[in-house]
Amino acid sequence: MTRPFVFINSAMSADGKISSIERRQVRISGREDLARVDRLRAESDAVMVGIGTVLADDPGLRIKSDLLRRSRVERGLPENPFRIVADSMARTPSTASVLGKGCLLAVTESAPSNRLRSLSCKSEIICCGRVSVDLEELFTRLYGSGIKRIMVEGGARLNWSLVSLGLVDEIYVYIGAMLIGGDGAPTLLDGEGYRENFPRLSLSNVQRLDDGLLIKWTLPQRRA
Ligand code: NAP
Repeated sequence: MTRPFVFINSAMSADGKISSIERRQVRISGREDLARVDRLRAESDAVMVGIGTVLADDPGLRIKSDLLRRSRVERGLPENPFRIVADSMARTPSTASVLGKGCLLAVTESAPSNRLRSLSCKSEIICCGRVSVDLEELFTRLYGSGIKRIMVEGGARLNWSLVSLGLVDEIYVYIGAMLIGGDGAPTLLDGEGYRENFPRLSLSNVQRLDDGLLIKWTLPQRRA
């Protein structure tokens, strides 16, 4: 399969949680880290999240810095990268901030047609898979349409699917100086988890940022 270069960017607490037990967004990153995330977005062709993140956080997923947006336009790129949501049943609320020009909803054949009708004027719709979004097919199609670099911004279940399918090349984790706790609070990867053959990562870089730590890992085994 020919697919885009894919990296996950996530912020977690010192105890490994990416949000609270109520799955409510927690401000883990400081100013420097948020600026770094903005730069990563600006260097990507698309930014992707799961519907769980849309429902919990309502992210806009656009570039915040005027300068970075202008510089993309000067390079002949759209102001913002495409915004992709893995949303099997088209549950994205019609008021979601992610919707609008440049939004791609990846849905399945099981998505109700009335939901698709109401969302199709606010987003492009791509149908891949029967029950949950077929991420391999999606990435092959995105690659074919010129999307070569995807930044995944969570959440925990989408991260798991992508990593377990061997579709991720790098992971950036910002570890913030805080604790969240809670048995059910999401972590970097939720889903089924590995029982054996735990994948090993290569450490690419470590950097002190704000009052936390940024770690960049490489996943050596690229399946494609
Ligand atoms: P998620 O990973 O954002 O979305 C998961 C949903 O995506 C699934 O339940 C599924 O719902 C849909 N999906 C469609 N195809 C899929 C596939 N092939 N594999 C996996 N999922 C697929 O949701 P989450 O795990 O609940 O994570 C959300 C939490 O993460 C929130 O609490 C948010 O605040 C937090 N978060 C934290 C950060 C951070 O950096 N700290 C970043 C992002 C999110 P359907 O079956 O309905 O399609």
